[in-house]
Amino acid sequence: MALYTENTLYVYNSLKGFKEVFKPTVEGRVGMYVCGPTVYSNVHLGNCRTFMSFDMMFRYFTHLGYKVRYVRNITDAGHLENDADEGEDKIAKKARLESLEPMEIVQRYTDDFHNVLRQLGCRIPSIEPTATGHIIEQIGIVQDILDKGYAYVSEGSVYFDVEKYNREHPTGSGTYGCLSGRNIDELLENTRALDGQSEKRSSRDFALWKKASPSHIMHWPSPWSEGFPGWHLECSAMSTKYLGETFDIHGGGMDLKFPHHECEIAQNQVHSHSRGARYWLHANMLTLNGRRMSKSTGNILNPAELFSGENSILKKAFAPAVVRFFVMQAHYRSVLDFSQDALEAAEKGYNRLMEALDKLPTLKTSKDGSWDVNEWRSKCYDAMNDDFNTPILIAHIFDAVTEINRIDASQSSISEESLKTLTETLEAFVYDVLGIQKVEKAGRESEVIDALVNIFIEERKAARAEKNWALSDSIRDRLSAIGITLKDGKEGTTYTIEE
Ligand code: AMP
Ligand code: ZN
Repeated sequence: MALYTENTLYVYNSLKGFKEVFKPTVEGRVGMYVCGPTVYSNVHLGNCRTFMSFDMMFRYFTHLGYKVRYVRNITDAGHLENDADEGEDKIAKKARLESLEPMEIVQRYTDDFHNVLRQLGCRIPSIEPTATGHIIEQIGIVQDILDKGYAYVSEGSVYFDVEKYNREHPTGSGTYGCLSGRNIDELLENTRALDGQSEKRSSRDFALWKKASPSHIMHWPSPWSEGFPGWHLECSAMSTKYLGETFDIHGGGMDLKFPHHECEIAQNQVHSHSRGARYWLHANMLTLNGRRMSKSTGNILNPAELFSGENSILKKAFAPAVVRFFVMQAHYRSVLDFSQDALEAAEKGYNRLMEALDKLPTLKTSKDGSWDVNEWRSKCYDAMNDDFNTPILIAHIFDAVTEINRIDASQSSISEESLKTLTETLEAFVYDVLGIQKVEKAGRESEVIDALVNIFIEERKAARAEKNWALSDSIRDRLSAIGITLKDGKEGTTYTIEE
């Protein structure tokens, strides 16, 4: 018996700490907001994992027939170097270091982000708003929070009063700390060292508006100072503007639970008496050598280098579709560790899957096929309906691959109706839901080129052994003419291919 039907989707709500039935706020529609990148450097593979996870959800909701509005913002101002509202704006700092306009930095890395996500099969969101495009809305929310008495002005900056807020929202899913499970008294203990040096009444408070220092390049006029909005504010402003005060899903990586999403919830509660999203979903981290991929520690892998194979970590290139398949093989709430071996295994799996999909139109059909495709199909939905369990879905897909290969090899048959259901379901889950694109046998092309060049190297070696210089030179020259340079060394002959 199936646990869930095609219509009952369970999602893990971080706010509650358990899976619950997903019921849209408005019948037939889904409003989904995902925190986008801060565009001050190239997006790394860890960031991409989170965006691929939410893209998969966007795709699944769409597949189920919902009308989805997917909003994913671009943070182009206000994100400071550290979470204690101190340090330089990340984008302004990069602009200063490179002697560029901040908007040149924003343009460059937004383009990179779009390009990489496109290659990884992510669909374009319905709206992609920017923080700088919503300064007026953000100022409006700051004023409202001040008017309601939950914020104070200090030296031209405006801070949210966490203590007062929690006195009035003492328990339940609106309390500051409800999402991350942090206790605000402990928070105070941990951050007390900062007190005394700050304009804040308490180190727990967070900035809604910051007065710009004279060197700060990006600033706007406001009733309090010439300054810029706090990072957490943009997501409250843009999510409510485009999705309403109460909407369905808010997503981001686990690391955004605190302080970013905790602050968003508090702002939303004061501004609109709502937490904003009803379901808060968090994607887990991609690690490299067991440590979180992170821009600040430099423990990162650049997707462009992964696709081209030009990097110090890997010995070969991997197609974006293989990378996407690798990511989808893990559940979005599990940690996923990146390694060459894991990617090679994913490549083999990907090729096996594509070969099986190619065989579908060639399978023999007959009236009597014994395979119950409908039961298999429901299992695929059950997996996805259990909090988007893509690894279980992929396991079911591979049960189908085994069955397709068996039917093909034994020249047995499948009923016409089953083949139709099987083909539609596989294509829907692989291409539309998992977002795995079809490429000609991934990795195969470079393997073939390597084998072919080595055949020529062997032939040339044989010619040289026979002192047939004309032939050996001709082989070398003809390879050179197509951009393949041979190099003779102590270890034998190696080659390079011109880009
Ligand atoms: P940022 O540009 O730093 O604001 O990050 C953009 C998104 O990537 C956020 O949702 C982060 O939570 C997410 N993210 C950052 N590092 C990783 C990682 N190692 N694995 C998965 N997601 C990450
Ligand atoms: Zn955000």
